[in-house]
Amino acid sequence: KLEGRGTYQFFEPEMDVRMQARRRLELDIRQALARREFLLHYQPQLNLENQRLTGCEALLRWKHPERGTVPPSEFIPLAEEVGLIVPIGEWVIRQACRDAASWPAGITVAVNVSPAQFKSDRLVETIVSALAMSGLAADRLEIEITEGVLLQNNERTLETLHRLRALGVRVSMDDFGTGYSSLSYLRSFPFDKIKIDRSFVNDLSSKTDGDAIIRAIAGLGRSLGMTTVAEGVETEEQMRRIRAEGCTDVQGYLISRPVPVEQLLHLLNP
Ligand code: C2E
Ligand code: MG
Ligand code: MG
Ligand code: MG
Repeated sequence: KLEGRGTYQFFEPEMDVRMQARRRLELDIRQALARREFLLHYQPQLNLENQRLTGCEALLRWKHPERGTVPPSEFIPLAEEVGLIVPIGEWVIRQACRDAASWPAGITVAVNVSPAQFKSDRLVETIVSALAMSGLAADRLEIEITEGVLLQNNERTLETLHRLRALGVRVSMDDFGTGYSSLSYLRSFPFDKIKIDRSFVNDLSSKTDGDAIIRAIAGLGRSLGMTTVAEGVETEEQMRRIRAEGCTDVQGYLISRPVPVEQLLHLLNP
């Protein structure tokens, strides 16, 4: 600005607007927790061997007073960047455990845990206390991590995963196949479940050899003793082919969209 306004007039106002929008969003996220604007929706997973619902994934929603329902893609990246994902994530874990404690035994709940939560020291404590307070058995809680968590590949990340596993908590690899080195991550920790990214399910309808990758991942899962869930299944045709390729479970709009907890209960107890 000291250089004289004229120099920057083309982009400075634009930057300003973006910075302001960012700061506004950060402030809003800070207040959202206190104002109880967050809620969880749940999306069930179906086992293809016995046609039963086995569990569901908790997906965060934000009921913003002016903007309506804001999807996670619009606030989680910033929350992650400024560290707010830690308190938000703690709320998610506690709420998911509390909800799941009243579901039929055997139904698991999966929670997405982001890289910043792994960097903070509190994850294991948070999970231990959420399980204790809710009374949920540890083996009914699943955490989903993406390769971003393992990218930090430090000893602590792996130690945390092993501590969670020792408690009985299950660990899933989310969005499998989209990163740079999904295969090597499978080697670094004995995951319970591989979630095949939606883009591969999409390829089933659009690419000639769309099945090859799903078949390969399903085979990999079978050899490693891991459950394989296909994400984003929307059509009967996709489901038929996924079953034929040997995946064990499916999740997607065909089974159900993510729904509020009351609706989930109807799905679990039809
Ligand atoms: P994700 O963990 O891979 O979750 C699956 C996403 O796919 C969800 O989007 C879900 O609504 C969507 N989906 C499920 N079935 C279908 C389908 O058949 N078709 C299509 N087109 N989409 C489907 P959502 O809820 O918008 O969440 C997006 C991402 O935000 C999640 O991806 C996850 O990475 C992140 N996220 C959501 N909740 C949390 C949370 O509580 N904590 C953290 N750290 N991240 C979260
Ligand atoms: Mg997930
Ligand atoms: Mg995913
Ligand atoms: Mg994702």
